[in-house]
Amino acid sequence: MNLLKCMLNIEYINVVILVCNKKRQDVINKMMNMMTQKNIPTSESESEQISTCPACQSNSLIEDIKTGEIICAKCGLVVQEKKYSLQQDWRAYSLQERQNRSRNGYALSNKIYDKGLSTTFNSGYDSKGKKLDPETRNMMTRLKKQDQRAKVNESWQRNLKIALSEMSRIANELHIPDHIHEKAAHIYRKILKEDLVRGRSIDGFVSAAIYAACRKEKIPRSISDIAEASCQSEHDIKYHYRLLVKELNFKPPVDRPTKFISSLSSKLNLNGQVEEHSMRILKEARNRRLVVGKNPRGVAAAVLYLACQEKGVKVTQSEVAREADTSEVTMRKRFKEYQPFL
Ligand SMILES: [Zn+2]
Repeated sequence: MNLLKCMLNIEYINVVILVCNKKRQDVINKMMNMMTQKNIPTSESESEQISTCPACQSNSLIEDIKTGEIICAKCGLVVQEKKYSLQQDWRAYSLQERQNRSRNGYALSNKIYDKGLSTTFNSGYDSKGKKLDPETRNMMTRLKKQDQRAKVNESWQRNLKIALSEMSRIANELHIPDHIHEKAAHIYRKILKEDLVRGRSIDGFVSAAIYAACRKEKIPRSISDIAEASCQSEHDIKYHYRLLVKELNFKPPVDRPTKFISSLSSKLNLNGQVEEHSMRILKEARNRRLVVGKNPRGVAAAVLYLACQEKGVKVTQSEVAREADTSEVTMRKRFKEYQPFL
């Protein structure tokens, strides 16, 4: 009897151990799932995050928040360094304190080569605001110079620095809105990542990225506008834009004539009535299927010119065609198509 009990007990213990093992396996599986889930990219900014170790293909990566590194748990390779911490850098104990505090500095921006995250120091004064003695000041100035040089220590960073400052200049000159400038910088970063710039012109790609961002966000800036603001020829910008479209699989939305009408009418100093009338003509033309597949700039120029004629506003064909960045021949062709139904 005792022996039987003993055997049963052993059986029981075995079962318990089995259950325990199963539970442990479950827990391990769950943990592994959590770890891998953590590495699945969730947003655009996180899409650059790596989920497997490039050396041993293991996907158990550890995030070290303190040093900003991602380390492989299997082989110890540092997969990614300089990870940005998006946590707050202050503490608040009450609601009021929380409301009063905000993050210091500018938000992360693609427009700046280091995304606005590096720091610099003032070399002239000490921590109490006293002027440093000349010798120390000289040393601090030298250190500052070294610090600035050390920040851009790789060729792609240097490339980015040159490119983004040129991009800011062009964007300012063309009055390009901030979010489109940001988009253009994002596109340029992609170009750099795909290694398309090697052996080609930085300025060419900068102009192409700006044009691509404008196309994507549907704001009317022609290649000739951009060519005028940059030191590139139209031919060069077109070449780089074609490369960008092909290599990045970039799909800009189809241009519609409405996009150009208002900017064209303001360039020609026309009043709102003319613009409104031109929209009506465009609608009529669209109903008769005379717009599909035609150059949108040519269509915009033609309807605006027609509207001017109807309203008795004096503009020449060549003026309209030049401002619309299209040829007079194209404009006249559209114009002859639309004239009969007015
Ligand atoms: Zn590894």
